[in-house]
Amino acid sequence: MFDSHMHTPLCHHAIGTPIEYAQVAKEQGLTGICFTEHMPLPDDADAHVRLKLAEVATYRELIFEARDQTDFEIRCGLEMDFIPEIEAFSQTLLEAHNWDYVIGSVHRVGELAYGVAPHPDDLERYWRAYYALVARAAKSGLYDSIGHLDLPRRWLQAPEHHLEMVLPVLDVIAKHGLALDLNTSGMRGDLKATHPPLEFLAEAFNRNIPLVLGSDAHNPDHVGSHFEEVIKLIKSVGYTEVVAFEQRQLEKYAI
Ligand SMILES: [Zn+2]
Ligand SMILES: [Zn+2]
Repeated sequence: MFDSHMHTPLCHHAIGTPIEYAQVAKEQGLTGICFTEHMPLPDDADAHVRLKLAEVATYRELIFEARDQTDFEIRCGLEMDFIPEIEAFSQTLLEAHNWDYVIGSVHRVGELAYGVAPHPDDLERYWRAYYALVARAAKSGLYDSIGHLDLPRRWLQAPEHHLEMVLPVLDVIAKHGLALDLNTSGMRGDLKATHPPLEFLAEAFNRNIPLVLGSDAHNPDHVGSHFEEVIKLIKSVGYTEVVAFEQRQLEKYAI
């Protein structure tokens, strides 16, 4: 079993060395881990919460150094924002290195950055715009999985008929052969649910969408958090395996 979503201090909002993350994973009995650092943006926009362009090489070296210090499996991926205007930039970054695993995440909706709530009257419109971007991300061909599918739940109430809104997005994800990031960060906060929640995962199972377990650790203590509990949950909707990626090839693990 892998934890396939975690960060390093190079994103400027995470702490701990990769080897510390690996130690926690080993103690938890995991098979390996995959780092998925927040990608840089053109002109180093938003560099306070992500890699700088010049740090992509530093990031990879940091992971490779950790690899050399242990026989524990450590992989190197990216969490890439889906921003339609920078698709060519993203493609170039993907081709520049051999990444193990690439998560596509939508953090920004129009002018509204991560964590910024729309006017209450615009809630429904915001969610529709968010999921339209997620569907475009799934169609882009850039990614192996979609990150924390219902991410804005971190700071927003759900729209009415949320599941109905998500079903066509799950259809697109299934059609384009992507996996879903089964993100346990929500279990650590007030939400007390995975991203995406169990009712969405039942529909993902019906569509044969694979799940990639990830803690979204920004601290070594987060590694593998709530995995046992979450595995019980996904078994309850039919899943018998989860997946991880190496060199962007899918591997299955029985649960
Ligand atoms: Zn982060
Ligand atoms: Zn992340």
